[in-house]
Amino acid sequence: MLFYQKLTIRAAVLTISMMKIRYLACILFFMIALPASRPAPVRADGPPRNIILFIGDGMGPNQRIAAQWLSVGQSGRLVMDALPFAGFSQTANLSGGLTDSAAGGTAIATGFRTDNGVISQTPDGQNLTTILETAQARGMSVGLVTTTQIAHATPAVFAAHVPSRRMMTGIARQELAAGVDVLLGGGEDDFLPITQQGCYGRWGNRLDGRDLIAEAQAAGYTTVCTAAELSALDPAHTAKLLGLFADAGMVRPFSPSPAEMTTAAIEVLSQNPNGFFLMVEGGQIDWAGHANDAANALGDVLGLDAAISAALAHPAVDAQTLVIVAADHETGGMGLSLSDNGGAPFAMPNGTPFWVKWSTNHHTAVDIPVTATGHCANFVRDTFPNTTLHAVMTRALDACFSVSISGQMMGIPTDSFTLTAVISPASTIQPITITWQADGFSPVTHTGTLTDSAAFQWASTGVHAVTVTAQNPGDTISATRSVIVADRVFAVYMPLILK
Ligand SMILES: [Zn+2]
Repeated sequence: MLFYQKLTIRAAVLTISMMKIRYLACILFFMIALPASRPAPVRADGPPRNIILFIGDGMGPNQRIAAQWLSVGQSGRLVMDALPFAGFSQTANLSGGLTDSAAGGTAIATGFRTDNGVISQTPDGQNLTTILETAQARGMSVGLVTTTQIAHATPAVFAAHVPSRRMMTGIARQELAAGVDVLLGGGEDDFLPITQQGCYGRWGNRLDGRDLIAEAQAAGYTTVCTAAELSALDPAHTAKLLGLFADAGMVRPFSPSPAEMTTAAIEVLSQNPNGFFLMVEGGQIDWAGHANDAANALGDVLGLDAAISAALAHPAVDAQTLVIVAADHETGGMGLSLSDNGGAPFAMPNGTPFWVKWSTNHHTAVDIPVTATGHCANFVRDTFPNTTLHAVMTRALDACFSVSISGQMMGIPTDSFTLTAVISPASTIQPITITWQADGFSPVTHTGTLTDSAAFQWASTGVHAVTVTAQNPGDTISATRSVIVADRVFAVYMPLILK
């Protein structure tokens, strides 16, 4: 008797288990067939996403304010300061100390802090992947523009990996080997052997005998030495571009200007339907800071501002493009005064005098302003470590927000299913256009904020797909969930079985 009871119980357990397996399999099938949305890793359609990162080397808050006063006065705005999103970047190096451009740039380019002098490596020599390399792996075109040597620390951190920023001939070799599509700046000497002069007076720096300019030409680069040659280029027939406009750092007045170099770079890079990454450095703001040369520091900030203006005016730079204006650190401890404090005198356009006074010939630890516009620019806010800029740029390679659907997912034919689309993060640029598409219903579109709801009722049992498509100027993204409509018994027991 006892035996039979046991057997009966066993049989019952077995039946429940079988049911469980069957229903679980059923649910698993639905989950596989109709997965919740996740952003596609590579974008197959839609306009390309681009990133343009402007770095004013040594450009702290007062460099920006003084340049503003000089050009447009106290009530005006530089283009870089009129961007809609702003935050502050902390600039420390790995040990928390005062950064140089190598460590500061590495933090921005790779998301990892390192020691001063190190170019996109850990202190023990491990290479750190840069945002330029990540963009390249996505099939995007990439470019570097600077007023210093193209093998100088700030451009170097995006395309080279060496233990010392002083290894500039090695950096030049790595930048070309990396296939960076556009390289514009100074520093011809790092590309030529000591037996060659190139376009300018000084002999090359290379001890390995290699002529990297000839090697670049053989590898498909168009090479230019002057602003006239640069402006004569046909970007549609320029796949790769190497422009070296000085033996070492470019000479003022910069020719081509940062704006001309930026426009040329965008012209070439934007030919790629997969989008592009471009870094533009105002590199000698830092040098002027070290020299306590206020006129050149302010002039170079305005030169960078003109480059930003040129970029924003380019048709390829749209809502799908992230534009960030940042710095690696401040240089010179610039102070600003509206009364004569013994500093260098300047005048605003309306004649109001102001004075610029320096407190050091070195870098300082002040947080630097970061402004941004376009795709994912909403992530630039508050105060953050310099490594966050890498995270923001990485995020900008994909959609900037995500959408999920919550609410009742299971019920009976008399139920009204109220579903809610939830957009995250909370800083997502609004308004968001939300379109609901559900089996058996015409699409419904709402202009909404971070949450939006819709109600559906299905007379027929079965699995019904609901898709939400959310769109703002930078992104279109969707999520799909399945709603199960079953008869009463099925609907009541299903959750119990699933427990
Ligand atoms: Zn410096």
